[in-house]
Amino acid sequence: MRNRLVVKADILIIGGGSAGCLAAIRAKELNPGIEVVILEKGEIRRSGSLAMGMDALNIVAVPGVDTPETYVEAAGLAASGIMDQLPSYIMAKRSYALMKKLEDWKVRFTKDEDGNYIMLKIHPKGKFYAAMDEPDLKVILASKVRESGVKVFNRIMVTSIVTQNGQAVGAQGFNIRTGESIVVQAKAVILSSGGCSRLTLPNSGYLNGTFDYPGNSGEGFAMAYRAGAALTGMEYTHQTTLIKDISCPLLYITTTRGAKVVNALGQLLGHGQIAGNLMAEEYRAGRGPVFIDMRGLPEKNISEIEQILFTTERPLQQRFFAQRGIDFRTSPIELYPTEFQLCGGHGLSGLVVNEKAETTLPGLYACGDVASVPRQHLTGAFVFGEVAAEEAVQRAHLSLSNFSETEVVSEEERLFRPFAEEASSPISLHDLEYKARRVIGDYAAPPKNEYKLDQCLRWIDRMKIELATATAQDYHELGKIWEIDAILDCAALSATASKTRKESRWGVAHLRADYPEQNDAEWLKHIDLCRAADGSIAVSTRPIERSVL
Ligand SMILES: Cc1cc2nc3c(=O)[nH]c(=O)nc-3n(C[C@H](O)[C@H](O)[C@H](O)COP(=O)(O)OP(=O)(O)OC[C@H]3O[C@@H](n4cnc5c(N)ncnc54)[C@H](O)[C@@H]3O)c2cc1C
Repeated sequence: MRNRLVVKADILIIGGGSAGCLAAIRAKELNPGIEVVILEKGEIRRSGSLAMGMDALNIVAVPGVDTPETYVEAAGLAASGIMDQLPSYIMAKRSYALMKKLEDWKVRFTKDEDGNYIMLKIHPKGKFYAAMDEPDLKVILASKVRESGVKVFNRIMVTSIVTQNGQAVGAQGFNIRTGESIVVQAKAVILSSGGCSRLTLPNSGYLNGTFDYPGNSGEGFAMAYRAGAALTGMEYTHQTTLIKDISCPLLYITTTRGAKVVNALGQLLGHGQIAGNLMAEEYRAGRGPVFIDMRGLPEKNISEIEQILFTTERPLQQRFFAQRGIDFRTSPIELYPTEFQLCGGHGLSGLVVNEKAETTLPGLYACGDVASVPRQHLTGAFVFGEVAAEEAVQRAHLSLSNFSETEVVSEEERLFRPFAEEASSPISLHDLEYKARRVIGDYAAPPKNEYKLDQCLRWIDRMKIELATATAQDYHELGKIWEIDAILDCAALSATASKTRKESRWGVAHLRADYPEQNDAEWLKHIDLCRAADGSIAVSTRPIERSVL
């Protein structure tokens, strides 16, 4: 008989990253008496995108500098119109108060000699980028979570959201160290488990050598879909162009401080903010690699860039450049396109949510990269973490639902099947994941066409059969199996949405070679996906909400 831990909570938070931490802290601020539980796959002090590095709150509408309305305009342009306005407006409206709260927590934002925030331009309109100087932000958040009395269970991989009578009432998963099964009953569930970083292979070929946090492998998308929530924007396959071989960010940091972007022929692509699509096009046209060139910049700018890259963003960069003999004063930095990912923070893939972080499944809230608020970045994760908590605490008066023992056991049987005697795959999990992500890269990544997308779906069906026979030697491997399963589910959702959107939009992110033009007359709308009663993917379209502008 497998050991099972049963936990009861008022609010369950799945994923203790940026959004999950803010949700937990806010829930306890509003009602210190309630039981708030976080289930986190990694270790909360170092898990999630935030721990991969950052250097700014990308969206802050500082009064007197810019307005939430201008932000909505800018974000709408960046999303090529596929954006509900109200959530983005609420995010921008709350962004300044959020920044002040972070300052109260001793997070440092950079200011000029007169004490004004240094706001830089990365959006098509306005100045919303607030530079931050805080290498230990995730550690600060984790400490706040602990201080507020939230119960954190680290090393728990959640594999399913439990529903009853069409409502989310808890979740199930397992401890990746001990194999203990865990069941949490809750009155409200907040999903904040990030996007799917491991969709295709990085150029390095290393499975975890991704730009974004590799522990975010799409289980949030997959389990919410299985539970009945709608997803949207899954056709937006996001890719960026970053430092070759290490995939660390530097674009906003360098281009906002005067760096040039040039191609391999020495041609200038531009100063300041360069669209990712423009860089990707250079590679496709054979004029790559693209370089960041800081030669000739004033020493003050270069020192400032080094300070950010080597402390707040990712300290490892300093050693990387030193070992390659690269000094920004004399050598340009070679860039390379990253792998493709699905993400609501950089892209616009995720659960359908409204301005209250409500999903289409009652009792389930979603925030951060798992939710579709286009290009919301860290600001969105923080703001909607708080919003989700404010909504979820209102369910604290409800009674907990009793779980059906049969259903709990059935999920445990599914979950631990790779240890059963009949599980017998001779293939290594590393090879299986490599193959899955190579196939996804071959067929679901841009440039897309009908044949490739069909091929992707066919391969996913085949690989699901193969995965169903995979064996786990330990609980780490068990986690890998369910990660690969989620990656395949995400790819199937992405290929289905991509087949539906018979146009090209967002540059590289949804480039259909068989429909090369953007077609607003037919496709200026959301493509939503939901699980049909027969288990197939049901596709529908939804108009854009334009209540702000
Ligand atoms: C390198 C990098 C630099 C960035 N820089 C900036 C910046 O400068 N400014 C900015 O505004 N934005 C930046 N961003 C974006 C920003 O960091 C993210 O949008 C934001 O942190 C996302 O928060 P999240 O809570 O949704 O996801 P995360 O913080 O990634 O949290 C998700 C959590 O869920 C956990 N999890 C995943 N699956 C499961 C599961 N099955 N069960 C339990 N737990 C699970 C993970 O372990 C993780 O802790 C950057 C992102 C990256 C990758």
